[in-house]
Amino acid sequence: MLKKIAHIGVAVKSLEASTETFSKLLNAKEVITEEVPEQKVRLAFFHIGDMSIELTESTSPDSPISKFIEKRGEGVHHVSFEVDDIHAEFARLKADGFQLIDEQPRIGAGGYWIAFVHPKSTNGVLIEISQKRKL
Ligand code: ZN
Repeated sequence: MLKKIAHIGVAVKSLEASTETFSKLLNAKEVITEEVPEQKVRLAFFHIGDMSIELTESTSPDSPISKFIEKRGEGVHHVSFEVDDIHAEFARLKADGFQLIDEQPRIGAGGYWIAFVHPKSTNGVLIEISQKRKL
């Protein structure tokens, strides 16, 4: 079951510049940064209430974030929904005819398992399903 929006992912060209902008915008004192080599990205998280804004910068020209910015420019990249059981949720979405990008969940940032639903089947919005990893 979908519990809440975990975060909204924003694709940015420069993590440094956009972190400054969003710190000002959100009047944020704290920002958490993380690199996920498997996804070829660097991220900055701003926690707002019980969700976050995730700024994502590519670390490689062949990463999906680079391709996204090339095609569509900077901006909202995905919406992430948190669930308790990512496998069950993905099975439900598959059964309901949604096109899935991932067959298996992969390791995301912030201690989460993540898996993506293709924007072709969700009105152009890339959907991420996430589940907190038991660390
Ligand atoms: Zn995300």
